[in-house]
Amino acid sequence: MAKLTIHDLSLHGRRLFLRVDYNVPIKNGAITDDTRIRATLPTLEHALGAGALPILASHLGRPKGTRNMDYTLAAVATRLAELTGRRVVFADDCIGPAAEAAIDRARQEAAIVLLENLRFHPQEEKNDPDFSRKLADLADDYVDDAFGAAHRAHASVEGMTHFFARPAAGLLMEQELRYLGHALESPERPFVAILGGAKVSDKLEVIENMLGKVDRLIIGGAMAYTFMKSRGIPTGKSLVEDDKIEAAKKITEDAAAKGVELALPVDHVVTTAIAAEAPHEVLAIDDPAIDDRIGVDIGPKTVARYEALLADAHTVVWNGPMGVFEIPAFAGGTNALARAVTAVHGTTIVGGGDSISAIKKSGLADRVTHISTGGGASLEFLGGRILPGVAALKDR
Ligand code: AMP
Repeated sequence: MAKLTIHDLSLHGRRLFLRVDYNVPIKNGAITDDTRIRATLPTLEHALGAGALPILASHLGRPKGTRNMDYTLAAVATRLAELTGRRVVFADDCIGPAAEAAIDRARQEAAIVLLENLRFHPQEEKNDPDFSRKLADLADDYVDDAFGAAHRAHASVEGMTHFFARPAAGLLMEQELRYLGHALESPERPFVAILGGAKVSDKLEVIENMLGKVDRLIIGGAMAYTFMKSRGIPTGKSLVEDDKIEAAKKITEDAAAKGVELALPVDHVVTTAIAAEAPHEVLAIDDPAIDDRIGVDIGPKTVARYEALLADAHTVVWNGPMGVFEIPAFAGGTNALARAVTAVHGTTIVGGGDSISAIKKSGLADRVTHISTGGGASLEFLGGRILPGVAALKDR
């Protein structure tokens, strides 16, 4: 680990600002998935065990810089108290007198502080120096455990770190960097990346960077159709990004030049509409009978081929579904790949909400080496970018 971690800090009696990612799904005031809260518990327990006063801060959703109570973290405070068995003092503002009073109270009651949504202030996303200083004034030390927010240069992940002598990584952040960093720098081979989802444009940088690292690159989802069109294969009404056809051609050439096996679908499920009851059938990928229909999932021959490409892999990174997996009739390819990934003997890393939910549905999530909590951040990391929230932490 090139960065300082929470283990390097002496925390006894110190106020510790702990940036976490509690951007959890909330429906009618109730948290529907608390994975992100649970993922920070090791760091929190370590801080408490070391005698620190943890001051937790997070964003939630996109309140656009206003105090919009649809995005309050109050429900998270309740859940956090249940999960830790500790008192949690909720501060209804992340800076100023409300935050300071909550910290004073927590100190007397040996409790944890959770600050209200950072994004209630527009200065958070603007990385405003004055706001950064106000956040920093609350604490003696800074630890970032919010990998999911590390790709944004916001005040709580970047600006405020400059006010601390030794800004450090939390245990979740450390784990993310260890697994993703190891996969990119010294993977056990064969190293296979699976990329799916709707947009090539989102993943172009990732694909280009991965071509210099992987042995095989498996492409699925709507993204595959931009590649098909670049090869003159009929795509019907499938989702194609016309302005990325040249980029797809270049990726094909680069893969050949680098000796990377670029795997694309050989058959697919086509339908008249993206709807649960729409009639659908399997066609070979180059079958012109697709007409004005839409390709929505990889077919059984493709599944078998992709399974074979994964069978002897020792490192696998997966991000993005193989089809419109939200509709059960078009989820076969994604579910089959989820099973194939969990059967790999080696390091498997899954990122992105859709792939994670497919893995969880397979009931085999515990066989994955690492489920990355940060979709966008893990993609940018795999794309070879230096994340501002990581760069801001102190080098060892
Ligand atoms: P992304 O955000 O780029 O990872 O894309 C995820 C979305 O891609 C999911 O909601 C899928 O339904 C969608 N998707 C995957 N394959 C296809 C396809 N063949 N046609 C249309 N949408 C797709």
